[in-house]
Amino acid sequence: MNKYLLIIIAFCFLASICSCNDNVSLNSPNGLVVIIKADDLGDTTANWNRFMKIVIDNKICAGVGVIPGRVTTQGSISEMKRINELRQSNEFPYIEFWNHGYDHHKTNKETEFSGSDLNDQTKRIQMSQNFLFDNLSSTCHTFGAPFNKTSGVTSSALVNSPEINVWLSYQKIEKHFLGDWKDPNKKVITKMDQHIILNTDYLYLNDFPIGDIINNYERDKEKPYVLIQIHPAKWDERRFNQFEKLIHFYKDRHLAIFMTPYQYFRYLHKEYTQVE
Ligand SMILES: [Zn+2]
Repeated sequence: MNKYLLIIIAFCFLASICSCNDNVSLNSPNGLVVIIKADDLGDTTANWNRFMKIVIDNKICAGVGVIPGRVTTQGSISEMKRINELRQSNEFPYIEFWNHGYDHHKTNKETEFSGSDLNDQTKRIQMSQNFLFDNLSSTCHTFGAPFNKTSGVTSSALVNSPEINVWLSYQKIEKHFLGDWKDPNKKVITKMDQHIILNTDYLYLNDFPIGDIINNYERDKEKPYVLIQIHPAKWDERRFNQFEKLIHFYKDRHLAIFMTPYQYFRYLHKEYTQVE
């Protein structure tokens, strides 16, 4: 057979394999995965304690972004350490403390990961990693930038901390992520993928009434996951009530599985099976 014909046949075969991948179902067989991203923990406050207690009492889980530069008391560190040791039945923590930069500063020109160079960003990520490791005695695997603002060097800065596997982003304004950070909403994650990027679906900055939660679920239910960003430090009574309704909507009807960001990474890698 003519060697050019052979090359063409081989090319067609490879192309057909690649196009098959596009048809692989990306959603979880056990229902929608809901990942809560709670931002801006500094010192533990009454609001933070209440939020984390609700998560634990309801036997769900959440990711909490820590700003080490705003943790000023030993009591806050002790409380984070205590919470970090509380485990779900699958041995993952109820609360995954993740790297939210070091000090969350903002000037006219820059934020921690926008307007600063690669060295500075690398240093800030590592300072926060060290804080979490030294105080919680566990490795942090997840990062999300303050103000959801990053730049073209953030991806490289993150790779300099190879233990970080998950990047929580808001792709409407963060457009700088590189190709090897894969979004499970768009691509099948394989064992080879050490970097996943999760995109925030909802920024619940103001009220989030149950009607919105139901509408959002109807829109999202075929997706693999949704990522919900919240700021419990600023919540009033009404928002705490709304949060409890959100939990009960998903949980009581068995519509979704709550996971922390790194738990989801491990789940995608089939390193544990969700039983609930
Ligand atoms: Zn923040």
